[in-house]
Amino acid sequence: MKQEYQSMLQAGIEKKYRVLEEEIEKDIIRRIQKAGKITSAADWQLQRYMVLGHSTEDVEAIVRQAVGGSWADTFKLYDEVIEQEYVRSKAIYEQVNAYFVPYEQNYELQQITNALIQQSNDELSNISGSLGFMVDVGGGRRVFTPLSEIYNGYLDNAITMMASGAFDYNTLIRQVAAGLAASGLRTVDYASGHSSRVDVAARRALLTGMGQLAGQISRMNGQALGTDKYEVDWHPGARPDHAKWQGRVWTWQQLVDVCGLGSGAGLLGWNCRHSYYPFLEGVSVRNYSDEWLAEMDRKEARKVPYRGKEYNAYEATQKQRQMETAMRAQREKAQMLKQGGAHPDDVLVARCKYQAMLDEYKEFSRKFKLPEQRERIYYDLRGRVAPSQRTYKEYKIAEENRGKVVIPDAKINSFFLKPGAKHAEEFFDVGYTEKDGKRLRRDILAQYNENRAVDKKELTDGAERFSIFMELGSAGKRKTFRIVWQKDSADAKPRLITGHREG
Ligand SMILES: [Zn+2]
Repeated sequence: MKQEYQSMLQAGIEKKYRVLEEEIEKDIIRRIQKAGKITSAADWQLQRYMVLGHSTEDVEAIVRQAVGGSWADTFKLYDEVIEQEYVRSKAIYEQVNAYFVPYEQNYELQQITNALIQQSNDELSNISGSLGFMVDVGGGRRVFTPLSEIYNGYLDNAITMMASGAFDYNTLIRQVAAGLAASGLRTVDYASGHSSRVDVAARRALLTGMGQLAGQISRMNGQALGTDKYEVDWHPGARPDHAKWQGRVWTWQQLVDVCGLGSGAGLLGWNCRHSYYPFLEGVSVRNYSDEWLAEMDRKEARKVPYRGKEYNAYEATQKQRQMETAMRAQREKAQMLKQGGAHPDDVLVARCKYQAMLDEYKEFSRKFKLPEQRERIYYDLRGRVAPSQRTYKEYKIAEENRGKVVIPDAKINSFFLKPGAKHAEEFFDVGYTEKDGKRLRRDILAQYNENRAVDKKELTDGAERFSIFMELGSAGKRKTFRIVWQKDSADAKPRLITGHREG
């Protein structure tokens, strides 16, 4: 399938469904946030109604606003197919002196086109009518849950649990954000029970119809031009069973028998990006020679190692798509946490993880010489997700150091940040609170550097003690602390012993 179609899909229908996903996630978070502000249990019922009431109408309005007017997009896409596949084939007709019927007079083609447009639009309305998320129903089992149940059951339940004190706000917002982002807004086919992300489903609905139209046009052209041969186009990273027949010339019957035309798994089937064009013996020249195809087959089959695994061309493109989906989910999660007013530390970690995934994606794409497709990750400019360079650098060092040293939970939570403990006030003075355990741990990890160890002291049992001075605290409040570590033997991991303000 031509790049033009892909770009139009990405800028149109796919984008609309991605915006819809974001809008619905935001709406759910907004409602939890509202519920988080309920303080009195007395008017709980009334408050709950204010949080959840009218949700059905609200969601309908969100869907209408986000994907309304998709018909115009569908027409534009099909117009493009007619232009690219039919109008432009006029040149071949002239070359062999055949009569070309303009589209305006080609009633058969118009009928086919209209039927396929109708089919695509029907599928798009089915998608918009069966929305939901895959929700964890306990024990890690995830079940497709329609939007109406998300609002009336899942959300209601979560809010009730929060009001009863079974969950605290931060835990809840973290769970919901992670769950929704990992699932993504989905549509379900109730007949098969199979669900897919809405943008993927919308893309498939249109690509399938457009592919069929392109195929019909090629067949029509072939018959009008008096040939029974067709050339299938070639693209890199084709799935293995399509790679076998791409780039070659086949008869109509072979397109069916060899390439699986008409079947879901074959040519012009699910997610197939191949097309075929009439091939006129003595007039047409093959686009790809047998030698070139053989050379490409060899190249594409070659396995390239990357971080302990091996990927051929197809596997690499699959891996790249998975990375894009994961990054999009991480991005949404970070945005939801921020919007829901989660603990700043949770937001920061989510943003740094996103940046780390983006770095990995860049490196993978470069290694396999694949173009980066960032429009599949972010589709608008709302909200910067990447953290500042300084924050990210500290995060990376902390992550690297995490496995190198031992910082017992008790030291952080029952000592440094425990009100009344010996040095707690020193930590509170520089901006930490009781709830900042994870942040303090990361700040310490980010500044851990054995080259800066001072006051080394051998203990009698062969253990070694040393100090590292660190600047700890919130921006503007930072002060110097002495953090004391101990290595129990030459190859033991240093463990945190104590710490206090100094200077
Ligand atoms: Zn294909």
